[in-house]
Amino acid sequence: MKHGNLLTLLIVIGLVGGALFGQYALFGSMGEHPNAHWTKQAGDLILIRPLYVMIIPLVFVSVVMGMTSIGDPSKLGVVGTSTVVYYLVTMLIAVTIGAILVTTFRPGDLPADIQAKLIGDSQADLAQDETLSQNIQDAKDTGQSQLGGAWMNILRQLIPKNIIEEMGQGRTLGVIVFALLFGLAIAAGGEATRPVAVLFEGLFAAVMKLVMWVIWLTPIGVFLLVSWTVGKVGLKELVGPLSKYIVIVIMGLAIHGLVVLPAVLYLCTRRNPFRYLWQMRRALMTAFGTDSSAATLPVTIESAEGPGGCSKRAANFVLPLGATVNMDGTALYEAVAVVFLFQLWGIDLSFGELVIVVITATLAAVGAAGIPSAGTVTMLIVILAVNSGLRGQGMAEEDLLPEYAIGVIIGVDRIVDMCRTTVNVWGDAVGAKIISRLAPDEPPGKTA
Ligand code: ASP
Repeated sequence: MKHGNLLTLLIVIGLVGGALFGQYALFGSMGEHPNAHWTKQAGDLILIRPLYVMIIPLVFVSVVMGMTSIGDPSKLGVVGTSTVVYYLVTMLIAVTIGAILVTTFRPGDLPADIQAKLIGDSQADLAQDETLSQNIQDAKDTGQSQLGGAWMNILRQLIPKNIIEEMGQGRTLGVIVFALLFGLAIAAGGEATRPVAVLFEGLFAAVMKLVMWVIWLTPIGVFLLVSWTVGKVGLKELVGPLSKYIVIVIMGLAIHGLVVLPAVLYLCTRRNPFRYLWQMRRALMTAFGTDSSAATLPVTIESAEGPGGCSKRAANFVLPLGATVNMDGTALYEAVAVVFLFQLWGIDLSFGELVIVVITATLAAVGAAGIPSAGTVTMLIVILAVNSGLRGQGMAEEDLLPEYAIGVIIGVDRIVDMCRTTVNVWGDAVGAKIISRLAPDEPPGKTA
């Protein structure tokens, strides 16, 4: 059996085995603090931390290398603009699909007693997840839950003042901007900077070697993390009162991931999108198992440039940036989740408010980091924006959607997150393939 196939098989065994182990051996026995359970701790140590430690070196080296090989600033302009347009258009399509599905199927219209119970428990449910409620509180305290504050936060990250601090904090956006300019400078330096370009080529090859080693930890890592998730939530949640909400999110993700993105890929490249999906399988399964597009980035780059046949010039730029800002799955989820909560609280949104949801959910997804549950925190931006629209129409303060409403969906968030993260990574991968046509490594015709 080829190495790649063996690894795929092991990851599948890890995912399925993890779900079974979680359901039959762990469910109901995790105690008061599931976050301290050994499966979570071991999953962090074995997979998440080794992947995370590579993110900053990988982002820096890969973006510098991508830039030195693109070289020509005018070409960079075309690649950069097309990338951003691709991100925005696909995120808007995703969020629109979510908004249409949730308003059509109305998962928030539940029998009155169930509705009352979900609402009644929501505050306590939110308080139970200490990390998430703390993150939500922080977003409020720093003003990032407001639209203006969220924009400012993104802008500040785009214009960093201390690159080491950005690296230390794991904020990739500033690192990408710096690496981009540094790479351009190396390209512009001609003969004088040529040795640095060669050095970065070597560094990139070395980091990718490291990635190849760490990838072999994926099967055991996803086994542990999936067993923890299922052990904590239990598969029975999938048939509880939130089942319709979960099904709508997954249905939207499936439409976007299996119909829209493949169609976009086919129209732009005339390649078989499902063949490419298969070539990206390791990255997609890692995303599903780890819940983090940032942690998956090393695997995404490896799959895209290896089996996926993307050019280094395109993928080294599109994938790191995409892992941070391009989140189709998260955008779709935020729209469904917010409208669902408004429905549950009996607040009907007009078309104008749905437009607010579509726009702010896209921004909130851009602002979400590629880590577990990030989208659930930035969702606050969408809730507050809709609330302020409703307030403008004269709705009383106590009738608006309270922030603790998020507590309703927290319990099942990890499962939904696994699915949306997979679509986030798939969206990045499709972008890398499309942009590879604009920036091939070899003259057109020889690549991809
Ligand atoms: N977990 C997602 C990701 O890493 C972000 C989110 O939607 O919470 O892409």
